[in-house]
Amino acid sequence: MAALDGLPPLRDVIARHGLDAKKSLGQNFLLDLNLTQKVARTAGPLDGCTVFEVGPGPGGLTRAILALGAEKVIAVERDPRCLPALAEIGAHYPGRLEVIEGDALKTDFEAMANGRPVKIIANLPYNVGTQLLVNWLTPRQWPPFWQSLTLMFQKEVGQRIVAEADDNHYGRLGVLCGWRTTAHMAFDIPPQAFTPPPKVTSTVVHLEPRPAPLDCDIQKLERVTHAAFGQRRKMLRQSLKPLGGEALLERAGIDPQRRAETLEVEEFVRLANLL
Ligand code: SAM
Repeated sequence: MAALDGLPPLRDVIARHGLDAKKSLGQNFLLDLNLTQKVARTAGPLDGCTVFEVGPGPGGLTRAILALGAEKVIAVERDPRCLPALAEIGAHYPGRLEVIEGDALKTDFEAMANGRPVKIIANLPYNVGTQLLVNWLTPRQWPPFWQSLTLMFQKEVGQRIVAEADDNHYGRLGVLCGWRTTAHMAFDIPPQAFTPPPKVTSTVVHLEPRPAPLDCDIQKLERVTHAAFGQRRKMLRQSLKPLGGEALLERAGIDPQRRAETLEVEEFVRLANLL
């Protein structure tokens, strides 16, 4: 892709700006520009889109998103050391890259969208990835401000996101994602593709919002899934005792002897709506 955007190889950028990876910031950089393009392409056509990126680092994924035609990228990066490298990308694509130095967990992405449709694409820092996803799944308004989320996670987290009933990885995250989105794992990325390599395989997950998820109060849904999966090996009549146990399950028409991981999303919603 050096030929595509004419910018220097990422290895040179990292060396020139002294961007030694910091573990505390979850820094595992993707330097293969074919791979960063593959991640960006998973978000679908980017022509004319506004893209929010979290953690651009030295900018490999940012470059792919811009090269694929995004009209504007707004990137939130916590590490100030990365800003000069990102400024070079901004100079190459005038007016199309805005970098905000800050903590994505404290960023109000919904306000930042300001009514325009956005796609979110990120190679997320592992320590904050799941929390960011939960934040994006629970915005103030639904349908949400984002058209799609294309996110890289540790594979095990990706499996939890896309899991459905009767899957070992199914839990609170799978219910939340299944309630509000359709999600699939697009492809895996091996540790050696990163610098430095993480201990585990990564995976790219693509999520699109359900325009009208089943009507349900999210706090109630979380109370049910928290109780049910908190004791996932137990029968629901036991794990849901604090919420009404057998009586609640009977009202919902659910066999009290079943276990949490056998319940479809609609059944969790039915329970939540009876609380
Ligand atoms: N996007 C780059 C890539 O694909 O090579 C870097 C990805 S690296 C896994 C994660 C990036 O997120 C790092 O640049 C790190 O500094 C940044 N980061 C870590 N915690 C953050 C936070 N709370 N808010 C914003 N950025 C954060």
